[in-house]
Amino acid sequence: SERCSRIPQWLRVSLPSDPAFAETRGLLRDLGLNTVCQGAKCPNIYECFSKHVATFLIMGRHCTRGCAFCNIGLGRVEPLDPEEPGRVGEAARRLGLRHVVITSVTRDDLPDGGAAHFAATVASVREAVPGCTVEVLIPDFQGDADALATVVAAAPEIINHNVETVPDLYSAIRPQADFEQSVTLLERVRAAGVVSKSGLMLGLGETDEQVKRLLDRLAEAGCGIVTIGQYMRPSMAHPEVVRYVHPDDFARLGEYGHAAGIPHVFSEPRVRSSYNAAMFV
Ligand code: SF4
Ligand code: SF4
Repeated sequence: SERCSRIPQWLRVSLPSDPAFAETRGLLRDLGLNTVCQGAKCPNIYECFSKHVATFLIMGRHCTRGCAFCNIGLGRVEPLDPEEPGRVGEAARRLGLRHVVITSVTRDDLPDGGAAHFAATVASVREAVPGCTVEVLIPDFQGDADALATVVAAAPEIINHNVETVPDLYSAIRPQADFEQSVTLLERVRAAGVVSKSGLMLGLGETDEQVKRLLDRLAEAGCGIVTIGQYMRPSMAHPEVVRYVHPDDFARLGEYGHAAGIPHVFSEPRVRSSYNAAMFV
């Protein structure tokens, strides 16, 4: 809409000047690895790559789902690459990462949803970078508790699963997902003794009241960390930004979530699920 056609000042980013940016990009390209930073057109890429921080995107560049907000989206998926876990470990070592974030496309075509591949990647990172901490940002595995247990057994420090938006917008924004299934996953993570993390975007058409109810629900599920950021339209083919939420309002929602019982709520316009992830471990 008219009022959203201009991107507000607080979301503008400066262009790269740091040679570390090119180094990180080159290393990832040489190792043939995908990142969500590039795949999702993350606005923080200059900042993160310049700090040698990246979030690995495993199991291919195409997804079996087509969430409306996402730039990765549907495509023909390929067989898993058994060498990929080793390359992620190698990249983590060469980037000097102390906290590694691994995410994936959703692979509903695989019997375990790719859980064993996730576990192998965690193990490979641990071997390559002794003492580093690992965060996985996983799909819902269609509610498969065994698949989740496979990931839990690899003992990542944090298991993240994004609810993305308020339940009322699921049919429009995340049509192949189920809100209660995602919350159940977070509850299971917590019950297994692992820190659970989730995240959502603002600007997709939700109201503040709906966001507060969602934060109440995440608190009830025992979520340890919640990230809240501004939705930004990756292309004209994606849903419009319904509102740009002011940084002060982000802060207020963050305070609400914290008061509701979520230990860490990171709520700012440029926050992404993996932004400054190392600060929580
Ligand atoms: Fe990558 Fe996350 Fe940084 Fe974005 S915030 S550039 S996805 S590490
Ligand atoms: Fe994007 Fe994840 Fe949705 Fe796939 S499941 S379209 S990667 S948000």
